[in-house]
Amino acid sequence: MKKYNKLIVLIIMFVCTHFSLYATDTSKIETEKFKSWMIAVNNEIKSLKARIKALQEEIAILKQSNNNNNSLNTYLSSSSSARTNACLANLRTYSAAVEMYNLDHEDSPMKSLNIDKLVKEKYIKSALTKPETDCDYITEGDLTSDGKIKCARHGKANR
Ligand SMILES: [Zn+2]
Repeated sequence: MKKYNKLIVLIIMFVCTHFSLYATDTSKIETEKFKSWMIAVNNEIKSLKARIKALQEEIAILKQSNNNNNSLNTYLSSSSSARTNACLANLRTYSAAVEMYNLDHEDSPMKSLNIDKLVKEKYIKSALTKPETDCDYITEGDLTSDGKIKCARHGKANR
């Protein structure tokens, strides 16, 4: 019996040590696996963060250029409509000058716009500045009836 006891104890001890060794080994392997997996995940997170940062910078640049474009367009359209208004004001000034001229010259009225004549006879101080280089003042019809002065670029004044 004593021999058997000893043998059983030995077997138990062997099993126990073997099992504990095995257990520590597998847990060590699992821990290493987990650590390397965590490192891989961290690296992935780092590269994603870098990508997000790059995208945010790109978005900021796009927003900036979009704002610049908008303000440039606003500037261009506002200055363009300002030039149109200046041109239409010129047309009204010329029309009023021709009307006055024709009141004074019933016998030989101005049928189409003659800026030089209006300046010479002091109905206007000088030829008006053209807001655009391609503004050209032309007469449509007969100014003694329902004719109108218009700009080749900007059209007629509503009057
Ligand atoms: Zn014009």
